[in-house]
Amino acid sequence: NRGHDKGVFRLYDSEMYRRAQQRINLARELRQALEDDQFELHYQPKVDLATGTMIGCEALIRWMHPDRGLQMPGQFIPVAEQSQLIGPIGDWVLFQACRDLREWQAANLDLVRVSVNVSVDQFRPGDFPEKVREALEIHGIDPAALTLEITESVFSEESETLNRQLNDLHQLGVKLSLDDFGTGYSSLLYLQRYPFDEIKIDMGFVRGILDNAFNRNIVSMILGISQVLGADIVAEGVENAAVRDVLLELGCRIGQGYHYSMPLEVEDFRWLLEKHS
Ligand code: C2E
Ligand code: CA
Ligand code: CA
Ligand code: CA
Repeated sequence: NRGHDKGVFRLYDSEMYRRAQQRINLARELRQALEDDQFELHYQPKVDLATGTMIGCEALIRWMHPDRGLQMPGQFIPVAEQSQLIGPIGDWVLFQACRDLREWQAANLDLVRVSVNVSVDQFRPGDFPEKVREALEIHGIDPAALTLEITESVFSEESETLNRQLNDLHQLGVKLSLDDFGTGYSSLLYLQRYPFDEIKIDMGFVRGILDNAFNRNIVSMILGISQVLGADIVAEGVENAAVRDVLLELGCRIGQGYHYSMPLEVEDFRWLLEKHS
């Protein structure tokens, strides 16, 4: 029965149309958001698991939508990536994080480092290291105080320009962190080939270490690799003391997660820094 099939097809069609329209609208709103300064960075502490001391923080973008309120990155970063807006948004994140760090340093709050998430697409134009250098220079930040977190998806496209940019960034003295390790195109080759200073174990493994030996073994294995490479290991998603204890037993020394703190608005994060300084 053709009529039926055609109806289904049309329904599917209009659903696709609706989605495409939604993406276009969202992209337009994102452009406006940049102009109207609707983005914010929230900061989550990165902690020494043995002592509970804050050793750094990760900047996480939020969008304060005038009508819909707080929007999480999962709701708009993918569209930003599809619509070439991740370039300008990524620049905003980079410069804002450097500005915030500069302010904390000027106030003698002894936080030494900040981590910023970077999308694969930000490497596409080829001038990313130049932008990073500029952001550091404008705000007078020591390159060693900045960590760039990159997910494994960067390696889905093996490219000369990516290779060059990662090496340039390393030369510049910023730290490179491999985010969500264990979820994507994981290959030990990447770790050997690119100059990563840090590896973040995906929270999927971290949260599972209480339940099963498989996750514990994966975490142990990553820790073993990191020793060979001389990279730091950071456990994401440390949600309770039991997980922290197993991590410490396995030899993992750095973590992030709700057990310590949610990502905080900049004022609240600053208050936390003042309390700890
Ligand atoms: P990510 O880089 O892996 O960041 C960690 C995510 O886990 C954050 O979600 C954080 O709020 C959340 N989280 C932290 N501790 C815990 C915990 O103990 N338990 C659980 N369940 N979650 C925890 P968020 O802020 O929603 O960010 C999601 C993703 O969006 C990030 O994942 C990152 O890939 C991306 N993202 C965030 N900010 C930026 C940005 O400025 N630029 C780009 N390109 N991507 C960003
Ligand atoms: Ca603002
Ligand atoms: Ca991250
Ligand atoms: Ca992650």
